Amino acid sequence: MDDKPDPGPLSESSELFSFGVIADIQYADLEDGYNFQGSRRRYYRHSLLHLQGAIEHWNKESSPPCCVLQLGDIIDGYNAQYKASEKSLELVLNTFQMLKVPVHHTWGNHEFYNFSRDYLTNSKLNTRFLEDQIAHRPETMPSESYYAYHFVPFPKFRFILLDAYDMSVLGVDQSSPKFQQCLKILREHNPNTELNSPQGLSEPQFVQFNGGFSQEQLNWLNEVLTFSDRNQEKVVIVSHLPIYPAASDSVCLAWNYRDALAVIWSHECVVCFFAGHTHDGGYSEDPFGVHHVNIEGVIETAPDSQAFGTVHVYPDKMVLKGKGRVPDRIMNYKKEKAFHF
Ligand SMILES: [Zn+2]
Repeated sequence: MDDKPDPGPLSESSELFSFGVIADIQYADLEDGYNFQGSRRRYYRHSLLHLQGAIEHWNKESSPPCCVLQLGDIIDGYNAQYKASEKSLELVLNTFQMLKVPVHHTWGNHEFYNFSRDYLTNSKLNTRFLEDQIAHRPETMPSESYYAYHFVPFPKFRFILLDAYDMSVLGVDQSSPKFQQCLKILREHNPNTELNSPQGLSEPQFVQFNGGFSQEQLNWLNEVLTFSDRNQEKVVIVSHLPIYPAASDSVCLAWNYRDALAVIWSHECVVCFFAGHTHDGGYSEDPFGVHHVNIEGVIETAPDSQAFGTVHVYPDKMVLKGKGRVPDRIMNYKKEKAFHF
């Protein structure tokens, strides 16, 4: 608490709006366990209480956040094994119903351990109904073949949700050509029998629990960012998988993170990129001034701590105020690009 950066009274007074972030709740009605390496405790039941605590916090803020971004892995893959996927999802979504502002759901690997893509598309985890459309710009409309959309929570600010499992062997119908194509890409980069193992890989992100972005989705992203540049907007991007190596363990990155970075770096408008999946969190500002923030996972957060944050948006920066394991971060906009209100 003592060494957290202070945005200062001047900036406090000019806050435009705020939004909440929370990642990797991974709820399951199970005793505590450990991660795959056995190094981190997982609090499967308590994760629901952590979510309740976060929602209570957001609900009682004097100026409530405009929305909450749920960064994926809302329930744990273990639920599938115990045939508890639907029940657990209902429990977590009922908890989210207490939240007084909209929540935008991202999809992660654990969504696909529990449900098919068709199921998710028809479920309450599909929040595309919250999207905003840009009139007379059909090229900024996402295709139905991936789960991505954009919305404007405040004038001149656009948020984009990306589908990091658009190219993946998870959630893709195994009889489809797309599955064969994704499996081929995975096998070309990962000769291991166990495709979840990064052992010996020069590009450790090519594991089964990750995925990537199709060229179609990247083209769409490019169109939206082109519009945002022209319209002088600030953009926040959200994805379950991180895309910047310095902010993340390389085994957690999206398969073709370089392709996503190339699109983002060819535009001025992107301020920050929020991801989950890493559980330990991470942060780095890239050479193009984009802030990459990986939010610490709820599932590996002890009952006496917390893991969520609220991002306060100012004319010249965004300030993440973290709770518990989530550290504060100041994310200045690229120089000479600050708004002058
Ligand atoms: Zn994940």
